[in-house]
This record gives sequence, structure tokens and C-alpha cells, in this order.
Amino acid sequence: MNASVLLLPGDGIGPEVTSAAASVLAAVGSRFGHSFETPTAAIGGDALKKTGHALPAETLAAARAANAILLGAVGDPAFERSEPDRRPEAGLLAIRRELGLFANLRPAKVWQGLEDGGPLKPHVLAGTDLLVVRELTGGLYYGEPRGFDDEHSAAINTLRYTRGEIERIARVAFEAARGRRRRVTSIDKANVLEVSRLWRDTVIAVGREYPDVALDHMYVDACAMKLALAPASFDVILTENLFGDILSDEAGAIVGSLGLLPSASLGEGPSLFEPVHGSAPDIAGKGIANPIGAIASVAMLLDHGLGLRDEARAVETAIVRTLNAGLRTQDIAVQKKAATTSEMAAAIRDHVLDYRVVAAIRP
Ligand code: NAD
Repeated sequence: MNASVLLLPGDGIGPEVTSAAASVLAAVGSRFGHSFETPTAAIGGDALKKTGHALPAETLAAARAANAILLGAVGDPAFERSEPDRRPEAGLLAIRRELGLFANLRPAKVWQGLEDGGPLKPHVLAGTDLLVVRELTGGLYYGEPRGFDDEHSAAINTLRYTRGEIERIARVAFEAARGRRRRVTSIDKANVLEVSRLWRDTVIAVGREYPDVALDHMYVDACAMKLALAPASFDVILTENLFGDILSDEAGAIVGSLGLLPSASLGEGPSLFEPVHGSAPDIAGKGIANPIGAIASVAMLLDHGLGLRDEARAVETAIVRTLNAGLRTQDIAVQKKAATTSEMAAAIRDHVLDYRVVAAIRP
């Protein structure tokens, strides 16, 4: 296959983990005989410094032309006091909106070899393998009207969802559940919010099209609690934008480091893949960031973005083998000497190139 994967390294540790992930993508290309082009463009603080825009027009054009997009992270303390549209994060919100990336998939599972790496007792965490399906282009983050009054003494944001927006994200969740354990838990606050009542009614209606998938509903506060008490009880969690932002970070935290988590944002055009973590200014430039979230995002890109399921499995297998061999970056290390970003990436790359991985998935 010939494919163009646009790299958007962004800020902080973004360039470090993107370059690690791109090296694994190149290894997949050479091992499986694909030709992946990887042009690079600016986004976030990097783009603001170069062009004055967090999402320059040429970056958006390159994104539309790509088969898939791999993003590092955006966020730079230098812009902390800037107006919202002059902040790095505006670039991420804009690309999601412009590409219509309405569905955010965030898997959180215990990696083999890291069962005791999270804050929960290993027996509570055992068997956790869940997928948060978060609506990404609606709700409070985009609703109008929004803003401050003239005196800056009050502020408003708007929570609005249409039936159509809820239907399409619900379908993504039910379809995903069909490839997993066939269970969807829909999250809302239907005891308080009208939007949540529309959410629940609509999800129930869509659920009738999927009689083979079990559906239940949970208030967001109860879900936050159950994620900490019994994370293994979830399969697919379906949620709106704000609730999903919070719950997926919680789900990530319980399985270990933020640095381990990948995500996919899907829409009608090219899809975008990125690690869940941010730009981590506290460790940027030190070469110690965990690249696994970004590399696992490459696995999601191969699967959801390019339809290369075997290749995706090879990357996941390579990550597991690297962890099983005891290699750890500082965020997940128990020993004193931790691996650097590039050592971790090189080990994963070697396992991708290793014949036995390919043999294991292509008997
Ligand atoms: P963060 O995810 O950047 O960092 C939180 C903590 O996790 C830090 O201690 C950091 O060192 C650690 N961490 C994160 N990724 C890691 C990795 N790969 N390896 C090892 N440790 C890692 O969140 P934050 O500090 O709240 O935000 C920093 C900046 O990132 C802010 O500007 C924020 O707006 C932005 N942000 C961007 C995204 C994104 O690009 N999708 C997501 C979240 C936050």
C-alpha cells in the first residue's frame, strides 16, 4: 500500500514521541512492504510562533490531503495568558472541527507486564480492557453563546446536542462493541439535564438497531466511582464531550501512566491519531517521555485509518514484548535506571522488524 501520513509534532514532548512513533511506522512499512510518506506540518504553539496561527491554512490543507494524521501534543506555557484563539490548544479544537472528527476512541487496558503499574490493587485492575467512545465536536466545548459579560463578572457556556449528533456517535459505540464484548454503557446526567434526557432517549432508540449488544445507562458521577472500584466491569463507555474528557483521563490513570494511552478521532475524512497525554512541559527536551502512547496510536492508525489490521497487531505485539523484556521509561519504572524515549522506540521497532512477530500473526 502507498499511504501518506501527515505528522503534526506540535509542542513540548510532542516532537519527541512523534519521531519515535514515525520510526515504528517506517519499520512497519519496511517489514510489510508498504510505502508510507510522512510529510510534517506545524500546529499549536509551534505554528503560532512560526505563522501567528495555531492551525495554519497550509497545515489544514495538508491534513485534508493525507490518508491519516498522527499528532504529538499541543500546549506551551509561553501562551498561558493569551486569548483563547491565540493559544496552542485552539489548533487542536480547530482541526477536530474542520475535519468533522466527531468520534474519539480511547482504549484503556492493562498492558501485559504492567499489571501492578497503576494506582489500584492488581486484583481490582485485573482484566480491565475498556474503550471510551467520546463525542468530540459538540457539547459545552463548542456550544454558542459563550463568553464573558463586559464587566468580566459572569461567564456563559452552552450545552447543546442534536438528536443527529447523538445518533451518529451512538452508532460508533455500538459498532465498536460488536468487535469486543458486546456491551455499551451510556453515560449521562439524565436526573438533572434535559440534554442528557435527549441523549438517553436517543441512545435507547439507536440501541434497538443492535439487539445483539447489551445496553445500560449510568450517571456520570456513578461511572467515575465505578471506574475506580470495578474498572473491569466496563466494555464500551459511550459519552458526550465534557464527561468523556474527564472519564477517559480517569480510565487512563487507573491503568498506569498517561504516557501509555493512545486515541483515535474519526470523522468522514482523514482520521487523526494521537497519544492522550499533553505536551508535558515538565519533561520536554529531556528525552525521557514514554513513547508508547504515540506508538500505540500508530497501531490505531494502521487499523482504523488504513485498514491494516495485521500490521496494527504487529505493533501491539511489539509493545508487549518490549514491556515483557523489562524495558521501562521513567514514568513506569520501578528500577533506578530507566530507558530513554529513543531506547524504548528502538526496542519496539526491533520487535516489529523481528520475523517472529510477523510469523505469530501470519501463521
Ligand atoms: P500532560 O499530559 O502534558 O502532563 C501530565 C503529567 O503526565 C506530567 O507530569 C507529565 O510529565 C506526565 N506525562 C505526560 N505524558 C507523558 C509521557 N509520554 N511520558 C511520561 N510522562 C508523561 O498534561 P498537563 O501538564 O495538564 O498539560 C500540559 C500542556 O499540554 C497544557 O498546555 C495542556 O493544555 C496541553 N494538553 C494537550 C493535550 C493534547 O495535545 N491532546 C492533551 C492534554 C493537555
